[in-house]
Amino acid sequence: MPVIELTIGEHDRKTDPAILKAMHESATGGHTGYSTIPGTDGLRDAVAKRLATMTGVATERNNVVITAGGQAALLAAHMTACDPGDAALYIDPYYATYPGTIRATGAMAVAVTARAERGFQPSLADLEEACEARSLLINSPNNPTGAVYSRTKLQEIAEFTRERDMWLISDEVYDTQVWEGEHVSPRALSGMESRTLVAGSLSKSHAMTGSRIGWLVGPEEAISHAINLATHTNYGLPGFLQDAGEFALQQGPALEDTIAAPFRRRHKAVNAIFSREDLNVVPSVATMYVMVDIRATGMTGIEFAEALLDEHLVAVMPGESFGKAAAGHVRVALTVDDAALEKAALVIAEFYWNCAGGARTAAVSG
Ligand code: PMP
Repeated sequence: MPVIELTIGEHDRKTDPAILKAMHESATGGHTGYSTIPGTDGLRDAVAKRLATMTGVATERNNVVITAGGQAALLAAHMTACDPGDAALYIDPYYATYPGTIRATGAMAVAVTARAERGFQPSLADLEEACEARSLLINSPNNPTGAVYSRTKLQEIAEFTRERDMWLISDEVYDTQVWEGEHVSPRALSGMESRTLVAGSLSKSHAMTGSRIGWLVGPEEAISHAINLATHTNYGLPGFLQDAGEFALQQGPALEDTIAAPFRRRHKAVNAIFSREDLNVVPSVATMYVMVDIRATGMTGIEFAEALLDEHLVAVMPGESFGKAAAGHVRVALTVDDAALEKAALVIAEFYWNCAGGARTAAVSG
């Protein structure tokens, strides 16, 4: 029996054939030598245009450096913002690479807890308790929790960074996966353009995880430092991949919507199943993930995920792999076809109630 794999944040569809065709034509057309280090003009312009359209903030080619995925953009952002020994804040729960990425720059990674009880939104009080720091890394829409920070919350965070003269590093790789309301980039908030570095990528928005095309966007001077870093690390990304990325962006929001559509549908369906089955789900209106609070079972997320895999061949991520704040939760990636996913959701619900013992009956009758 095959395992239903709901761990990795990767689409069950492959990169669009038209994008692959553009990649092939670029390569056979000769774009196989060293490419321009900050990124091709065409791709940088396409990224600048996308961000300007989405946020209303004027963005030029010189505000953009192309990186090997959003991951390398996160590293470049911290290399740019922090000196060795500086404290760099990040919010827990977090995408698993964050602390290691910060440490790789020589900065000190300091977690600020966003509590489950507050829908995993960081509170100003918790931020203010953190030590003095050079930067704050946020991620909205959020992996793993699916939380989206409201405009008010982002304004509060922006004010916090302005008062302390910090960089705000905004990981927006899920900017096309907001199912209700809008994606707000803190770079668009008043006074924030000069201190915000936005990490983005084509991985999630265009089903191009393996092409490793991302970007860092920010003030021109900061980006010039990130370009120096690019010279001494990748020395530019493959030109044919960048041409394919440019082609992908030229397709505009229509292609992005097509790629997001299955996750929009599945997010609704899985939430409906879990709600009908009385599971405690982290409220969310975004991303390709649903997070379930399994604390009532008395198990850790790791124990729950391991037993679910052993006994029912359904693989989910334990919350603990995203930090202490997500302990006692599991993250379900919506990355298999609808029928298999709905079947897996029912299996998870039944397993949950088996583990939680009589709790459901008590909850219903009491
Ligand atoms: N940030 C977040 C929040 C992510 O979930 C991921 C990938 N899962 C990344 C950044 C990096 O993505 P990539 O390097 O593929 O663009």
